[in-house]
Amino acid sequence: MKNSEQRIIDGLNEEQREVVTAQRQNILVLAGAGTGKTRVLVSRIAYLVEHCGVDSNRILAVTFTNKAAREMRERLIGLLGEYSVRRLWAYTFHTASSHILRNFAEEAGLTRNFTIIDTSDQLALVKRVMQDLNLPADICVNGIRYNSRNYLQKIMDEKSRGHRPGMEGSSILPCFYDVYALYQTRCDKSDQVDFEELILRTCELIESNPQVRHYIRLKFQEILVDEFQDTSSLQYRWLKLVSGIENLDPGKHPANVLIVGDDDQSIYGWRGAAVENMFYFQKEFSPVKLVKLVQNYRSTKAILSNANSLIKNNSKHVAEKTLITRNPDATMVKLMESYDSSDEADEIAKIIRKLIDNLKKDPSEIAVLYRTNAQSRMIEKAMVEYGVDYNIYGGARFFDREEIKNTLAYLRLIVNPEDNISFNRIVNVPSRKIGKVTLGKIEALRREFGISMFKAAEMYALKNKSRSLQNFIELIHVFSARVAESPKNMDDIVRFLESVIEDSGLGTYYREKSAMDDADSSNDRFGNIEELISDISGRDYDELSDQGFDNAGEVLEDGKEISKSRNTDDNSVPENKKMKYTIADFIQIYLSSAALMPSSELLKSEEDSAVNLMTIHCSKGLEFEVVIIAGFEKGLLPLERYSSIKTDQNAHIEEERRLAYVAITRAKELLFLSCANWHSSYDGQYPTGPSPFTYELDSCSIDTDMNFLDA
Ligand code: ATP
Ligand code: MG
Repeated sequence: MKNSEQRIIDGLNEEQREVVTAQRQNILVLAGAGTGKTRVLVSRIAYLVEHCGVDSNRILAVTFTNKAAREMRERLIGLLGEYSVRRLWAYTFHTASSHILRNFAEEAGLTRNFTIIDTSDQLALVKRVMQDLNLPADICVNGIRYNSRNYLQKIMDEKSRGHRPGMEGSSILPCFYDVYALYQTRCDKSDQVDFEELILRTCELIESNPQVRHYIRLKFQEILVDEFQDTSSLQYRWLKLVSGIENLDPGKHPANVLIVGDDDQSIYGWRGAAVENMFYFQKEFSPVKLVKLVQNYRSTKAILSNANSLIKNNSKHVAEKTLITRNPDATMVKLMESYDSSDEADEIAKIIRKLIDNLKKDPSEIAVLYRTNAQSRMIEKAMVEYGVDYNIYGGARFFDREEIKNTLAYLRLIVNPEDNISFNRIVNVPSRKIGKVTLGKIEALRREFGISMFKAAEMYALKNKSRSLQNFIELIHVFSARVAESPKNMDDIVRFLESVIEDSGLGTYYREKSAMDDADSSNDRFGNIEELISDISGRDYDELSDQGFDNAGEVLEDGKEISKSRNTDDNSVPENKKMKYTIADFIQIYLSSAALMPSSELLKSEEDSAVNLMTIHCSKGLEFEVVIIAGFEKGLLPLERYSSIKTDQNAHIEEERRLAYVAITRAKELLFLSCANWHSSYDGQYPTGPSPFTYELDSCSIDTDMNFLDA
């Protein structure tokens, strides 16, 4: 025991050790960038399992991105071994919620096969709802124009406050209320859940269902949350319910909660994140052990003194903390100024070439960060010109490509024929010549009988001869029956997917399209579909066996009565015939993870040794030897807003300053701040210049000398 404990705390400083080896209790680690918060959180998990005997199955680690969750698992495997780590829940709030809801689908008013819809699906639904309510596409309310996108935003704002349509305390205007109410009814009917709904429904489920509450209380004994400063108020409510600090039943114990965060890195205020949650946590989870970490292990002195010097211009801090480092002084932070954005991109590419060729930097240790996605176009172009391989994060998502969306829509409709969005998407892909008039009649039946599009299509086909529609219905029926079977191995799933793609006609359709596309175009549509099949079949489906609640009964003595009733087939099916999971289960897991993969993350064909291009928002929690911030200039950082919705300008500048702070503190050794004097965009050029934040930096540790690159 002693040795393993030593292994876990080796190399940690005194304050870090204090957190890792603390008694089991609520803990708040409030600390600046690069002080080892994430490292401490991971070590704490290892300590709880190895030293305190906590079953890893009872630990929930909440990370900000799926990528962070994967990295956490990898680091833990080294300390704990594969078996323990498989059983651990390391997820984002959304993914954890989707697992909880799937485990308690019936209790949550869903089926196990519910689908998660993304923003484009939501928008399609809102548009349809507005049409059905005879609302114009563009409405003027109190002098402000609202289109379907604004409507969706309003609905999501309401949800993130925990408000249901018609709930007391809601400030939503009646015209939004109607759209929200119908939108929600349609989602519920089609067994569909949007992102915010995942969280809200989990909260409501725990609040209203004592049995689920009992189960959750047994399941999670230790909860750890990284990047807590960006938690929204709804996520905080979730944390209180899942940990049992709220709505605790008599005789039960809440989980211990460790949160780590840095208020100076709070950059999601615009999305409802509330730094105040840190204050609430101290009160509501009291007693809370508070630990501050001040030593930065990531960056050189020059980088850190610039970061400190910048952030002290913000008036609001939860705690004053000036970071110190023992790292060497090393190279100054470099300022670069170019004529226009295109020159700037060129300069950046040139510098990267020198870093790789002369300074022998590993390309994957170099990152170019920018404020807006639009900036990436010119940078990418320059990278290609200078022969620099790059991975871009946050560009067009693999899952947003047309051919992938259509293939997934087939799968969604097959596992959930109630899914109207998918029906509408693929009923005519490839073209079946099902005309507008026919679809209009199906839509009318759907409305009249309050049924799904698919059911309405069946009804229509009974009375009307439409060969192509009947074939389509038949196709979906055949596959819906097949997904209920249990696959013997992954090959069965591959065969299933291949037949969906071929029998639906998608295969031929996209093979032809690929052939028609430019010969050297990177847009190999059929190739993308093949990549999808290999992604589905190559994925790890741990959630099915190890991370669901199904096996929680095995470790929960007083949970037996629930687990028994939930797993009746486990007792009645003889061992040799026991086939637990159907093709639908596998597909469902895949579909949810695809839906939950935000655009900031997934990149197919990620190159191993390539420079990283991403927005500053995406770079949170990461570190690189070299960071180049592009567009450290007026108008971009802080970002000038043209929105008609006025919010506190000072608060906006402070959030942008925190964003600049996050960007700067990603760098370990070298930091370049680059600006142009003319900003080029699709609508022309305008004069700009260095960001006003430049004048808040530490002038003693900045220069413009680039000679070191020619060494
Ligand atoms: P951020 O605020 O950006 O999320 P963080 O506080 O989570 O940063 P980590 O990413 O955990 O910081 O750590 C930053 C770097 O410092 C990592 O490379 C980590 O391995 C290293 N580090 C942390 N603690 C120590 C230590 N005691 N000794 C040496 N290196 C350390
Ligand atoms: Mg971190």
